[in-house]
Amino acid sequence: MDCGVPFCQGDTGCPVQNVIPEWNALVRENRWRDASLALHATNNFPELTGRLCPAPCESACVLGLIEQPVAIRNIEQAIADKAFQEGWVVPSAHAPDSGFRVAVVGSGPAGLAAAQQLRRMGHAVVVFEKDDRIGGLLRYGIPDFKLEKEVLELRLRQMESEGVLFETGVEVGRDLHVQQLRDEFDAVLLAGGAQVARELKAEGRELGGVHLAMDYLTQQNKRGAGDVIDDHDAIWAGGKRVVVIGGGDTGSDCVGTCHRQGATEVYQFELLPRPPKERAESTPWPQWPMKLRSSHAHEEGGERDWSVSTTRLSGENGRVTKLHAVRVELENGASGPQFVEVPDSEFSLDVDLVLLAMGFTGVQTDGLLSNLGVTVGPRGAVATDAQYRTNVAGVFAAGDMRRGASLIVWAIREGRDAAAAIDRHLHQATTTGATARRSAAASA
Ligand SMILES: Cc1cc2nc3c(=O)[nH]c(=O)nc-3n(C[C@H](O)[C@H](O)[C@H](O)COP(=O)(O)OP(=O)(O)OC[C@H]3O[C@@H](n4cnc5c(N)ncnc54)[C@H](O)[C@@H]3O)c2cc1C
Ligand code: SF4
Repeated sequence: MDCGVPFCQGDTGCPVQNVIPEWNALVRENRWRDASLALHATNNFPELTGRLCPAPCESACVLGLIEQPVAIRNIEQAIADKAFQEGWVVPSAHAPDSGFRVAVVGSGPAGLAAAQQLRRMGHAVVVFEKDDRIGGLLRYGIPDFKLEKEVLELRLRQMESEGVLFETGVEVGRDLHVQQLRDEFDAVLLAGGAQVARELKAEGRELGGVHLAMDYLTQQNKRGAGDVIDDHDAIWAGGKRVVVIGGGDTGSDCVGTCHRQGATEVYQFELLPRPPKERAESTPWPQWPMKLRSSHAHEEGGERDWSVSTTRLSGENGRVTKLHAVRVELENGASGPQFVEVPDSEFSLDVDLVLLAMGFTGVQTDGLLSNLGVTVGPRGAVATDAQYRTNVAGVFAAGDMRRGASLIVWAIREGRDAAAAIDRHLHQATTTGATARRSAAASA
């Protein structure tokens, strides 16, 4: 750990500012329990980031300048798993009850991190989730082969024991009116994610066998949890030729799921050009490198291709049978970079299932956000100031809902920061509405 300045903790490194050299040294000294305490001091869910974080810390590691960086993420997972195995992860005591009530809308990592922090600060916290299970994309996006759901359950048990209340099957803005929420709670945190999928605007989109990746992944996670999916609604890759459109994380999770379901062929197409194998010169150390990334799912099989644009889908009897595409090049036009079709590059492919994993355009504005009157910025995310405050007094936002589709580690960071901002707000603004009532009740 003699790296001098630990860039892994700096601005280009770990977003939750984990004290990496400290817990690495403690592990080396076989002081695992102390390492766990140091790790949990900055990160509510190291068992998640240890499994799923793309580890910007490792890209910024000083050792990485001359050889392989320290395997920080693996060490983080080892500490977190040992802490659970040894029974060191127990409910934490909370500060004396404040009398304030906070509603958290959405139970992804941002909402969960905020809820845990707020409860420990002494506030009563209710997490509302529209799905039937808690976890957000941890539950219904990320497949079991990347995150065993028992890991999530263990953490949720801890949070329940600490006194966080969970209400599933409640869509705020539909099942629960926002006015009721405002009346019953002193502050509201919006952590509803940014799950509006980018659509394929091409002929044949409406054919059977063409689905959004999230519908496919959600189903498989439900099966994994023991639910039975109706045959009529089932999206299943077994025995099929599959094309996944979109080269990102969601796409690779689809690829891995298709392999497990027994697809005969799996292709993954990306519109952007193939990135370089090694760190691009435009992203020098310690920055997060632009380079080709491969997941376990890619190592398991399938074929990836880049600079491919799907032009249309065609089919028989209402079901997709062919995907038609062209190759494209990225050129600098008058109005910025644009994709230009390569002449005579058309091709088509026999296909039985097409999964659309082309990213997310932003937050769902109907219902919750429009009823509250919260401003959504031009990039499709809820606008806030640096204190995570929206334009509506007492309403805060964090995670993907505030920054757009991002990462678990950023959701945790934003949840923690937003919790601190809400705590400050509650202690400052004790003169109006429900806040005043709570305050009076607390002191009575
Ligand atoms: C397939 C996939 C794989 C990914 N893999 C990784 C990975 O390996 N590593 C990584 O770091 N990141 C990954 N990500 C990104 C990561 O999952 C997200 O950045 C993170 O989950 C965002 O957390 P969040 O709490 O902001 O929102 P979410 O996890 O999206 O949770 C929001 C929750 O709010 C609920 N909600 C929304 N509106 C309401 C309402 N009105 N009332 C009640 N509930 C509501 C939603 O149902 C949802 O459960 C992946 C994303 C996807 C889609
Ligand atoms: S949370 Fe991510 S960036 Fe931070 S130490 Fe863990 S792996 Fe590295």
